[in-house]
Amino acid sequence: MKNRMNELVKQLNQYADAYYRLDSPLVSDAEYDKLYRDLVELETAHPDLVLPNSPSHRVGGKVLEGFSKYQHQYPLYSLQDAFSFEELAAFDRRVRKEFPHVTYICELKIDGLSISLTYEAGHLVVGATRGDGSIGENITENLKRVQDIPLTLPEPLDITVRGECYMPKASFGRVNQIRQEAGEVEFANPRNAAAGTLRQLDTRIVAKRGLATFLYQEASPTEADSQSHVLEKLTKLGFVTNQDYYLADTMEDVWHFIEDLAGRRQNLPYDIDGVVIKVNNLAVQEELGFTVKAPRWAIAYKFPAEEKEAEILSVDWTVGRTGVVTPTANLTPVQLAGTTVSRATLHNVDYIADKDIRLHDTVIVYKAGDIIPAVLSVVEAKRDQQEPLLIPTACPSCGSELRHYEDEVALRCINPLCPAQLKSKLEHFASRDAMNIAGLGPSIVEKLFSANLVHDVADIYQLSIEDLLTLEGFKEKSATKLYQAIQASKSNSAERLLFGLGIRHVGSKASKIVLENFVTVPRLAEASLEEIAVLDGIGAVIAESLTTYFGSEGAKTLLAELEASDVNLSYLGQKVSSDAQLAGMTIVLTGKLERLKRSEAKAKLESLGANVAGSVSKKTDLVVAGSDAGSKLAKAQELGIEVRDEAWLESL
Ligand code: AMP
Ligand code: ZN
Repeated sequence: MKNRMNELVKQLNQYADAYYRLDSPLVSDAEYDKLYRDLVELETAHPDLVLPNSPSHRVGGKVLEGFSKYQHQYPLYSLQDAFSFEELAAFDRRVRKEFPHVTYICELKIDGLSISLTYEAGHLVVGATRGDGSIGENITENLKRVQDIPLTLPEPLDITVRGECYMPKASFGRVNQIRQEAGEVEFANPRNAAAGTLRQLDTRIVAKRGLATFLYQEASPTEADSQSHVLEKLTKLGFVTNQDYYLADTMEDVWHFIEDLAGRRQNLPYDIDGVVIKVNNLAVQEELGFTVKAPRWAIAYKFPAEEKEAEILSVDWTVGRTGVVTPTANLTPVQLAGTTVSRATLHNVDYIADKDIRLHDTVIVYKAGDIIPAVLSVVEAKRDQQEPLLIPTACPSCGSELRHYEDEVALRCINPLCPAQLKSKLEHFASRDAMNIAGLGPSIVEKLFSANLVHDVADIYQLSIEDLLTLEGFKEKSATKLYQAIQASKSNSAERLLFGLGIRHVGSKASKIVLENFVTVPRLAEASLEEIAVLDGIGAVIAESLTTYFGSEGAKTLLAELEASDVNLSYLGQKVSSDAQLAGMTIVLTGKLERLKRSEAKAKLESLGANVAGSVSKKTDLVVAGSDAGSKLAKAQELGIEVRDEAWLESL
């Protein structure tokens, strides 16, 4: 038993390493998942035998109460700064006075947070933040959720290593997109996002955020003789090291590396804020020693601050996908990180109010990586009698009144006929969980709008085959097919329609509940807030959102149009709705189900029209995760795929 578990853990870790760190999978996801399930089964039966390096430690949520202090055995140091070649040359002269023939290693200065990882007998026992250098915080549970940190090493070493934990630009974009759509405050930059994530008390959130690491230092005594050998050793032990380093014999060489880097840093998949230059030979490092707070053998060159002053000339307000209205400042042009910047985001109305940003203010604009420039703060000294910024009360796209909900930082346009929102609304309307109109994807929606054939979701029911034939790329057969799919959607049970309308807080489950009770959409539209809020599973939030929506003129027009096109507005009950409930969806099962057997779960999903697949990919629509779900769940989260639980499966 123990041997089998050992073997599984070893194999799974090797596969995960190949997948996450080396980016070259050794086995299929299906194969991985099978082994993972075998392991979890054994672990469930023998919880006392769970190995410390089991991949099952990486998933599953824990809500922590807080972080305890951690006293570093080897203190973390900071670095002396340099901002010019002259400062680097002065550093070089000091070093060469004692050691005329040194070689330097230039490493990227990753803009994240320093972390310290301590392994005992090869097992990760503590992961901590830097803190003040001698006392940090114990964030072991969170760091275990960072996929590229090894839980065990290939050798039973006692070792403490240091490095940087950061959020890749891609993860940052995804995380902020989600926050923006939810009306939440966005992270200002990847560094803040990484810091906020590592301080999360819910480890599941950490697992979802896609953090990564670069390790660069062995803090415990090492046998390596140079920094480049340390990097090699760390790589062999399974850590991710940054291979974009450079060995330089002179400061001129170092400077060339820096200049080259300045030109390509925008294209790196992570933010850097400079270059760390270290004496490569560790014996020389030791001889040079430390000042009170920093090593004498290293210096950090920092890129010039990517902040400039600019004047706000005007502000544009644009309506996004979910009706969120975002302010962008037009600025006097400034050079920032190698590009000319004349526009910067002001984030949202609350941000403007907090920072008291006014028209014609001189502000600090900054740019991090390839992220759009943002206004950081007002230069108060340069203000005289600036007028306050006019906050729109009407939607810039459709003119209807904007809402500022109490729980949101943003303004929102809730008009369902708002042109700026309509395209994405139509995409949602046609999507599988909603009206399920096969073939009506984003590119076709775009074509329909540019051809002026469609202005709102109701218009698609006016389309003829001839109309569709006028679109680029359509032939008789494809036009007929799309036409038929549109016609067929008219007889859907109305909870699909309701969900498809994309009303705030109203998901497919809530849509079903309210229509089971009110039966038709027009009747629901007449219902009072109290009548809706008393329903089981529906709270005041959903009820209010529904009444606000149906109270708007746009909604009334839309309903009338749909009715005139013979779109079914009634709930057709279990029978009809269920046989199409999961039609065409690709669903993946993972983890251990408590009440249903896996074969039963699969049969149930298939009977509802779903296609049950073995591994998670971009084509997966939904993942049903039981307890101890493994890599499939992690992958689903990484790809942003919806995840449901066993209770949901039973509720179908
Ligand atoms: P500073 O915070 O500006 O004093 O710079 C020191 C910090 O740079 C360290 O605490 C590390 O978190 C960070 N750093 C990033 N990359 C490296 C690297 N390759 N070598 C040393 N420190 C680095
Ligand atoms: Zn609008």
